[in-house]
Amino acid sequence: MSKPIISFEFFPPKTPEGMEKLRATRQQLAQLNPEFFSVTFGAGGSTRDRTLETVLEIQADGYKAAPHLSCIGSTRENIRAILHEYKNHGIRHVVALRGDLPSGSACAGEFRYANELVEFIRAETGDWFHIEVAAYPEFHPQAVSAQADLVNFKRKVDAGANAAITQYFYNADAYFNFCDECARMGVTVPIVPGIMPISNFSQLARFSDACGAEIPRWLRLKLQGYADDIDSIRSFGLDVVTDLCERLLRHGAPGLHFYTLNQAGAANTIWQRLGL
Ligand code: FAD
Repeated sequence: MSKPIISFEFFPPKTPEGMEKLRATRQQLAQLNPEFFSVTFGAGGSTRDRTLETVLEIQADGYKAAPHLSCIGSTRENIRAILHEYKNHGIRHVVALRGDLPSGSACAGEFRYANELVEFIRAETGDWFHIEVAAYPEFHPQAVSAQADLVNFKRKVDAGANAAITQYFYNADAYFNFCDECARMGVTVPIVPGIMPISNFSQLARFSDACGAEIPRWLRLKLQGYADDIDSIRSFGLDVVTDLCERLLRHGAPGLHFYTLNQAGAANTIWQRLGL
């Protein structure tokens, strides 16, 4: 097995205290020698400055950082300015997304889908950026059909994406099936599983309802059974997610991308347990 690509995702903190806490998290996770850290980008550019600031701090510490960039609600001019800003700062890696319009927002902007953003990035900046895109082993919540979602995923790769990171999932077979389907369509870019550690059931249930990631019945019932017993939820969650990661890597996943929620603990423990 070649060395897995490991990466960690952060959100840009809103306060100086949050930024300080993230520095400590980053220092711990840096020990694991990740390929890169990525930093999310709020819908409609709401975190534009904070995303950049967080990315620049990571870069200044000597690590590779990839800002996310979402295009829904944006103009070409706006996205062009952000791309050139990233380029001027020597950033070479982006996660290109459509994003979701905030509820009640009427203006979709000049981009409809992420494949248009990838195409635009390539047209504007050639091969400067390594572009990651999102993939959905359990399919996107707005997918018209599984097949249409696969075809739409392929559009992003055909437009020039170098790699993909998946939405999180707890059903490894969904990931393996998705990768098999992609291979059958001639998609050869690495598809790295997104991993969401489990530490809080109600938060996880909320996220999962919003993004269409399924919490299997057996897992949901076990977690619900622990009620407010946070220690048991964490301990059980670590076992479940470590097993998932182990199975994914054993069967050929090229790496793991951790949704850290700016916490080092779970990702760190899982990585140690995997013995990597
Ligand atoms: P797309 O690939 O455009 O797909 C969206 C939907 O449209 C799908 O149902 C697809 O089948 C359909 N579709 C796609 N292309 C076409 C087409 N050409 N014609 C017709 N239908 C089409 N959101 C943020 O706001 N900020 C972030 O930082 C962020 N980071 C993320 C990181 C990862 C790894 C993942 C998996 C998601 C992230 N998201 C983020 C969430 C993401 O923005 C949402 O899931 C969004 O709803 C879809 O984005 P996308 O890039 O996958 O869209």
